[in-house]
Amino acid sequence: MKLDDLIAKRFLCGKCQSGGALVKRFAATGTGLSRMFDIEHNVFIAASCENCGYTEVYNPEVLEGKDDLGAVMDLLFGG
Ligand SMILES: [Zn+2]
Repeated sequence: MKLDDLIAKRFLCGKCQSGGALVKRFAATGTGLSRMFDIEHNVFIAASCENCGYTEVYNPEVLEGKDDLGAVMDLLFGG
């Protein structure tokens, strides 16, 4: 499963404990050369609670490098 979908599915709000999130990728733009060549490394995932709008941000570079993404999701959102 794609990381974005996994987060959307497993998301548990830290504020209101609701499940379900709107997940979007966004680029945190750098300046100059880093902006041109390093865009892939400046992309983050924002997961917004569908109930209260509380948003958490994740770094896909870190998560997509995990062998066992399910275990990380358990850690973030409970088993
Ligand atoms: Zn919430």
